[in-house]
Amino acid sequence: MKINLYSTMDREVREFIPLEDTRAGMYACGPTVYNYAHVGNLRTYIFEDILRRTLEYAGYRVEHVMNVTDVGHLTDDQDDGEDKMLKSSRETGMSVWDIADYYTKSFFSDLSRLRALEPTVVCRATDHIEDMIALVKRLEERGHTYESGGNIYFSIDTFPQYGRLARLQLDDLQSGARIAVDENKRNPKDFVLWFTKSKFENQVMLWDSPWGKGYPGWHLECSAMSMKYLGEQFDIHCGGTDHISVHHTNEIAQSEAATGKPWVRWWCHGEFLLDETGKMSKSKGDFLTLDFLEKQGYEADDYRYFCLGAHYRSQLRFSFEALDHARTSRKNLISRILELKRSGVPLPPGPEASEYLGRFEQHAGEDLNMPRCLSELWGLVKDSSIPPQQRLAAAYQMDTILAVGIREAEQPEAGELDEELQELILQREEARRQKEYSRADELRDILLKRGIEIQDTPSGTVWKKRV
Ligand code: AMP
Ligand code: ZN
Repeated sequence: MKINLYSTMDREVREFIPLEDTRAGMYACGPTVYNYAHVGNLRTYIFEDILRRTLEYAGYRVEHVMNVTDVGHLTDDQDDGEDKMLKSSRETGMSVWDIADYYTKSFFSDLSRLRALEPTVVCRATDHIEDMIALVKRLEERGHTYESGGNIYFSIDTFPQYGRLARLQLDDLQSGARIAVDENKRNPKDFVLWFTKSKFENQVMLWDSPWGKGYPGWHLECSAMSMKYLGEQFDIHCGGTDHISVHHTNEIAQSEAATGKPWVRWWCHGEFLLDETGKMSKSKGDFLTLDFLEKQGYEADDYRYFCLGAHYRSQLRFSFEALDHARTSRKNLISRILELKRSGVPLPPGPEASEYLGRFEQHAGEDLNMPRCLSELWGLVKDSSIPPQQRLAAAYQMDTILAVGIREAEQPEAGELDEELQELILQREEARRQKEYSRADELRDILLKRGIEIQDTPSGTVWKKRV
């Protein structure tokens, strides 16, 4: 299966060809664990999960690395503002370590409810301080750093390609001056690699370094950890579009300046989830979490389905009406799937179902076009000219990428069997006791049509739902 992927660096869709034949190295910027993830953040992780699943579907062994930022991320991405962890600690009275622990767990629980595959490596910034220090040393040896006011900065003037990803112009670089308040910087776009002069008196996360006790700048962790786990050159780096202009731009500068080699082959970015006022963000105060949606009676699958209704490179506006619509549509899909499941176990898809699958794969491979993939799925399940068991098999296959709960969809639980079915089971047992075998068989067939399979075992009659 061929995969074409949009590359932010080239501003075009290019055929994905990894560095190694069947291995795809993929790094995803993870959460800053000072608060719950909002559903906008989760949209980006759903996009990354689709990307990973599509690569796996196509036969690649994906090494999916995700960091957890538990130190160094300031409220402004450009070294300004307050440390996000400290701010949360002050507001909640919890220690920064407990905060990191609590929100990390909450984040991975969100991902698992959304059926996002667990990354193959999850790495915490605070466990990799040595790697970050080693990277700063390397940059220092190659002349890319300077010390000013107690902090170590990356000098962007030593890296002429700076800003290529974001297509930053010199003018933009100058206009950065309006934002930067750090007088230690030679160029307003220079950024901190290592802070020793913390502006926060109560900074508790501190480590020894050749430059003094301090803590790393935020961008450093992603360069250090991605290269540690994926090598100095790897295939894909992803995140949300808000990371293009500062975070990813600075990551590229540090990494390529340190190794002297081109770094990442595909930069892939997911577009924003919007609320009524624009980009959904935590700094606005109130924000929507997956927990909140669940408390309102939605399932995580509904939110995933809602996200798949838009291409990952288009902005998507959140509204409860739109989510309701997704929920109804998914419910209808699942009841059709249950109908198919009642017809028996999945059989290999025949030629007609394979046509749907072929188109599905083409759309998935064409820069992850999930809206089109969903319409192929719908076309398939509704196509009564194809035997139900073949439709089911093809739908299962599609669900390895979509992951909207098709495989897991279950008939009602034992205790939830409606009274009529329970009565039929009892009647059949009675018929057997009375040796009325043809009546018992007739009842068995009726139950089978209703999705209940009867088995007579030495220890008595048992039943199970057909899948
Ligand atoms: P953070 O925890 O703030 O570092 O963000 C985690 C991920 O969510 C990053 O990849 C961001 O780019 C992404 N992100 C932040 N806000 C949104 C949004 N409104 N819509 C989609 N993705 C977002
Ligand atoms: Zn990152």
